[in-house]
Amino acid sequence: MLIDGYGRKVNYLRVSVTERCNFRCQYCMPEKPFSWVPHENLLSYEDLFEFVKVAVDEGVEKVRITGGEPLVRSHLEVFIKMISSYAPNVDLAMTTNGFLLEESAQKLKDAGLKRLNISLDSLKSEVAHHIAQKDVLAKVLRGIDKALEVGLNVKINCVPMKDVNNTELIDILEYCKSKNMEVRFIEFMENTHANVKKGLNSQEIQTIIKEKYDFTKAPRVGNSPSQSYICQDDYKFGIIEPHLDDFCTDCNRIRLTAEGYLIPCLYFEDALSIADAVKSKDIKEATNILKKVLQNKPEKNKWDEQNQSDRAFYETGG
Ligand code: SAM
Repeated sequence: MLIDGYGRKVNYLRVSVTERCNFRCQYCMPEKPFSWVPHENLLSYEDLFEFVKVAVDEGVEKVRITGGEPLVRSHLEVFIKMISSYAPNVDLAMTTNGFLLEESAQKLKDAGLKRLNISLDSLKSEVAHHIAQKDVLAKVLRGIDKALEVGLNVKINCVPMKDVNNTELIDILEYCKSKNMEVRFIEFMENTHANVKKGLNSQEIQTIIKEKYDFTKAPRVGNSPSQSYICQDDYKFGIIEPHLDDFCTDCNRIRLTAEGYLIPCLYFEDALSIADAVKSKDIKEATNILKKVLQNKPEKNKWDEQNQSDRAFYETGG
């Protein structure tokens, strides 16, 4: 079992397979970075898998593939198959913008992927276009339908932003409800890479939904970063509330970048590289680094609206 320096059980590894993305979302990567990490610096699927095995053997029970956009890295299903064959009981999930899902959902499901979180910030094609800086909506919606059709468990992620998509929250909730998917509204997290004036906080999101739906706060289950709310008709939606003071109290997550940096917190600059250890298959060293990073996991995220994070979410996987 992995326990950090504050006694929290860490059992959730997020693996970013690339920082590259086919969208330029205003809240994440509005401009193409000045330079991408060169391809030769990326860990191969075999090397990433070497570390996933170490983490699973030490007690990780949930692995999420993310990015950048994970589906822009070719043959992702090969990596998924490696993990699902080694650890069939691991909760294997992925976060994607959905653009390439129509053609890949079946392969991902066959490889052993269980769950998907798909980003959907607007149901209006011109607004979706404005956010992603690309005409994306129709293809994303087809991707969502395909994922549901092949039997993947799908949740929707939406970042509510003032004067961008704030009038659409009920429409998005109702779209998700009609397809039996949970929507999770994520409070916009300020960072120096974003081009967003203001995100909506949890209270503001709740006020908008209250205009049409009565709901109650559900008891917190496990270590989910999302606080659930239950509507009178039993539909459940979530809000991820990182601005709340106690958000980090039961954080169970660590993050691995595509270059092999192991990061204890989305908002913590210090990271250690497991690249050399996995390339030389030095399992003992990889395990030591994992334990060092856990001891270095901060009690709370070191960030607020004034002190924005420099770390790009497309590197760490959000
Ligand atoms: N490309 C994939 C996608 O769009 O879902 C995966 C990577 S993305 C960095 C992972 C998640 O982080 C997405 O749900 C996205 O909405 C969220 N995200 C990115 N930047 C954010 C920000 N500044 N505030 C809140 N959520 C953010």
